[in-house]
Amino acid sequence: MTPFRYARAADPGDAIARARDGSRYLGGGTNLVDLMRETVERPAALVDVTGLSSAIEETDGGGLLIGAGVRNTALAEHRAVRERYPMLARAILAGASAQIRNMATVGGNLLQRTRCTYFYDTAGSRCNKRVPGSGCDAIGGFNRIHAILGASEACVATHPSDMAVPLVALDAVLHLRGSDGARTLPVRELHRLPGDHPEIDTVLEPGELITAIELPALPMARSSTYRKVRDRSSYAFALVSVAAAIEVEGGTVKDVRLALGGVAHKPWHAARAEAALIGGPATAEAFAHAAAAEFADARPLRDNGFKVPLATRTITAVLADLAGVDA
Ligand SMILES: Cc1cc2nc3c(=O)[nH]c(=O)nc-3n(C[C@H](O)[C@H](O)[C@H](O)COP(=O)(O)OP(=O)(O)OC[C@H]3O[C@@H](n4cnc5c(N)ncnc54)[C@H](O)[C@@H]3O)c2cc1C
Ligand code: SF4
Repeated sequence: MTPFRYARAADPGDAIARARDGSRYLGGGTNLVDLMRETVERPAALVDVTGLSSAIEETDGGGLLIGAGVRNTALAEHRAVRERYPMLARAILAGASAQIRNMATVGGNLLQRTRCTYFYDTAGSRCNKRVPGSGCDAIGGFNRIHAILGASEACVATHPSDMAVPLVALDAVLHLRGSDGARTLPVRELHRLPGDHPEIDTVLEPGELITAIELPALPMARSSTYRKVRDRSSYAFALVSVAAAIEVEGGTVKDVRLALGGVAHKPWHAARAEAALIGGPATAEAFAHAAAAEFADARPLRDNGFKVPLATRTITAVLADLAGVDA
C-alpha cells in the first residue's frame, strides 16, 4: 500500500476544507481500503467522514432524511425503513456480509466502484476505468457479469451497489456540500454511463461531500420489494436485480416504480417499462411485455446474453407477486 495521511473531519465544513487534490473521503473503508491495498487507488490523504452524519430523521413531507454516515445495518434495521420502504431494507440485506454491512456507510455504498475483475487486476489487464486510454480487456474477454444496457466501446462494467437500485426506484434525493455551497441531486442523476470517460463514475464535483439522502413519502412503497439473482445466495454481487413497487386499482396499473441492478454502468431506472405499464392491465402478460420493451436496446456481450431473458422473467415475476396475479 502506498503511504497516505489520515485526518478525521470535525464537521462537513472541515471535511470539505481538507478535501484537496489527491485526498479522498473515507466511509467504512470496505471498498476504498481494498482498492488502496491493490494499488488501484492511491490517495495522498484520507478524510474520515464517518462521524459526521449518522442520524435518520423524519422530514416535514413524510419522508426520511438519512445521514451519509449511517451504517448499512442501521439503515436496514430501522423500523421506518422496514415498514415504509421494504425494498430498501431488503436490498441492503442482500448485499455483502453482516460484518461488512456493519462497517459500510450509506455515502460509501453509493460510491463503491465496479467489481469488474479486470479493474482490480493491476498486474496485467488493460482497463480504461483504471488507466484511461489503456483499453478494455472485458470486451473481448470474460464478460458474464458485465452490462447489457448503456455500455460503450470504452467500458462495459456494471455498478455493483444493491442499495442504489431501490434509491433510484424511490426517486431519492442526495444532499451534497462542496466548496461552492450546498445542492441537491436526484440519485437517478448521480451515476454516469461510461461513454468515452469510464474513469468518471458520477457527476459529483471534485471534493463534493454527500451529507444525506432524502427518501420522499411514497405510500405504495410499503408493499415494495427487491429481488436479487446471483450465483450463490450470499456474498455475491447481482447478475440481475429488481426493485419494484406497484399500485393496482380495479385491475389497472395506477402507478409503478421499477429499477434494475446488474445490467448497466449505473443503477438503471426502467422508465420505458414504467411508461408501458401505467394505465394498462395488471397481468403477467403486460408485465412481460413491459420488461421486453425495457430491453429493446440491449446489447449483450459474448457471455452475458442470458441476462436479457433472466431480467425479463425476474421483472415479470416480481410485479406479478406484488400485484397478486399468476406469473
Ligand atoms: C466481500 C465483499 C462483498 C460485497 N458484496 C456486496 C454486495 O453484494 N452488494 C453491494 O451492494 N455491495 C457489496 N459490497 C460492497 C460494500 O457494500 C461496499 O464496500 C460498501 O458499501 C462501501 O461503503 P464504505 O462506507 O465502506 O465506503 P468506502 O470504502 O469508505 O468508500 C467508498 C467510496 O465512497 C467515497 N465516500 C465515502 N463516503 C462519502 C461521502 N459521505 N461523500 C462523498 N464520498 C464518500 C469514498 O471516498 C470512496 O470513493 C461488498 C464488499 C465486499 C468487500
Ligand atoms: S469493463 Fe470497464 S472496468 Fe472492466 S476492464 Fe473494461 S474498462 Fe475496465
